[in-house]
Amino acid sequence: MGDLDYTGLVAAQRSYYLTGATRSVQWRKAQLHALATMVTENSEAMYDALWHDLRRNRYDADLMDVAYSAKEALHALRHIDDWMKPERVPTPVIMEPGHTEVRRDPLGVTLIIGAWNEPFMLTLAPLVAAIAGGNTAVIKPSEVAVACSKVVADMIPRYLDPQAFAVVEGAVPETTALLEQNWDLIFFTGSPGVGKIIHQAAAKQLTPVVLELGGKNPTVVHSSADLRTAARRIAYMRYINAGHICTAPDHVLIWPEAKDEFLDHLKDAIREFYGEDPQASPDFGRVINERTFDRLAGYLTNGTIVVGGQTDRADRYVAPTVLVGVSEDDPVMKEEIFGPILPVIEVASVDEVIDWVNRHPEPLGLYVFSRDEQVIERILDSTESGDAVVNDCALQPLIPELPFGGVGNSGMGKYHGRFGFEAFTNARGVLYHAPFVDPDIKYPPYGEHKGLHEMIGRLAP
Ligand code: NAD
Repeated sequence: MGDLDYTGLVAAQRSYYLTGATRSVQWRKAQLHALATMVTENSEAMYDALWHDLRRNRYDADLMDVAYSAKEALHALRHIDDWMKPERVPTPVIMEPGHTEVRRDPLGVTLIIGAWNEPFMLTLAPLVAAIAGGNTAVIKPSEVAVACSKVVADMIPRYLDPQAFAVVEGAVPETTALLEQNWDLIFFTGSPGVGKIIHQAAAKQLTPVVLELGGKNPTVVHSSADLRTAARRIAYMRYINAGHICTAPDHVLIWPEAKDEFLDHLKDAIREFYGEDPQASPDFGRVINERTFDRLAGYLTNGTIVVGGQTDRADRYVAPTVLVGVSEDDPVMKEEIFGPILPVIEVASVDEVIDWVNRHPEPLGLYVFSRDEQVIERILDSTESGDAVVNDCALQPLIPELPFGGVGNSGMGKYHGRFGFEAFTNARGVLYHAPFVDPDIKYPPYGEHKGLHEMIGRLAP
């Protein structure tokens, strides 16, 4: 599709939007319902595509993509009436009689750009929010998850209102051309580097953006932690989906006296989850492509391997791996790992942890394993992250009541559940001022009513 076609596509969505068709609660509910049905009826195709692209097993496919997307739509369906209700707020006395409220109006024509690691969740969950907000959307899945992108492009036009929703498949040239169009919101999931390109393109037309980015999520294991539980929960979320999870624990910061026992538990957990040979496990995934494989294989020369380290390029296999003895200057500590490799680094104190987190870019998630409440609260109070989890990790996107998203380098704007609805709407304040009381004394000439004006000044907000 060339530039002109994109212009036509956006113009057609805008005309449709301006008819008001997308605003009614009935239309929104019908689209949310259709989205949930679409996922249910196409789940086999979605499982197959996830297996093809990521060798993802069905359980994890449901957890992160298939059932997840249907649940997000059903959650919105359950709450949309409440979300759409204008919120009444107090009216200042001098504006009485009247009433004041905050409406949540649609933004208009939106663009959703997805990443490849959770290819359905990252296109369909923002789409749920776009629908709930009463918008149209063009969806651009990641070209890297080839099979999943095709499924998204195939199913959306068959289930959703074709005048309001369209899928554009493609890579950098297509995305660049899309970014030249005039949008009312750009919702982007991907890397901080590309996030900056999106933000710059959006700035040309003052288009608002939601940027759901990544980064290195520090995972603190304090000496007071239940080390076996910590090791199992960290291993689960580091190695699921072959480590391709934006919220995954990126590296462990651990007290020296807890390190050896923690490493033993980590080894046990990896063996219990994936057997003696994880390459033969039906539950362990594959890295997405050769380029990512080569990047990850490069990290295996950093520090010392204490678990795993095996690779097979032809099978895009990188074993669940634990590294120790890495330095902050090693590539594995300079870049988001986004693969099944976990460096474990010693720290000596809470101050050191706080300093570590604060001298690195703000993470999407910060995880603290500890049974000492003072340690937990001190770390949370002295650091910044998009979200945080205590005594577990990476679970925050599974709770629709939590605002999901980053801060600083890990992004801007939040979504999921009500927060998605808010991201795709304009909080429009409206004062309804009754016309029947309009005393002369509030207008000039002020001199005649000096005392009264002083009083109004005091009452004014
Ligand atoms: P990416 O930034 O390379 O690509 C994301 C999207 O941007 C794709 O659709 C791609 O086609 C497009 N794109 C890539 N280069 C572009 C360019 N130069 N100009 C315009 N568009 C371009 O990210 P990725 O590799 O697909 O995903 C991995 C990253 O996404 C990681 O950093 C990960 O942490 C992050 N991520 C974040 C979340 C979240 O919810 N916060 C979720 C998943 C992944």
